[in-house]
Amino acid sequence: MTTTDFAPIAAEAVWRAVMQAAGFQCQCIGGCKPEGAHKTNPGGRCKREHKPYQHLIAAAVAPTGDPHKDMAAEQVAYCEPCYDGQLAATRRTARAAAAKHENDVPLFDLGGEA
Ligand SMILES: [Zn+2]
Ligand SMILES: [Zn+2]
Repeated sequence: MTTTDFAPIAAEAVWRAVMQAAGFQCQCIGGCKPEGAHKTNPGGRCKREHKPYQHLIAAAVAPTGDPHKDMAAEQVAYCEPCYDGQLAATRRTARAAAAKHENDVPLFDLGGEA
């Protein structure tokens, strides 16, 4: 039982270290929206802070949705809307790169994913 229990504890330790480095404030600097965001904020950074009713998450700076890749990447603090936006942005970039890479083959509409 105890051998598999380290994972949540390690995750908690990582989360805490990331939050302390971030000052318990979302570290998004505008990549969460295609047109950019947080431009009017000091430093162009999202103002959301960790609160009991508003949890920040420790996530890869450019999340891919793949836990193995994301855990190995640089970790930053994101609020949920920014995380969702960053994930969508990474996927858009990945799709664009894939489309470019495969420009010899007919392109299919890759949209419509949830
Ligand atoms: Zn945010
Ligand atoms: Zn944001």
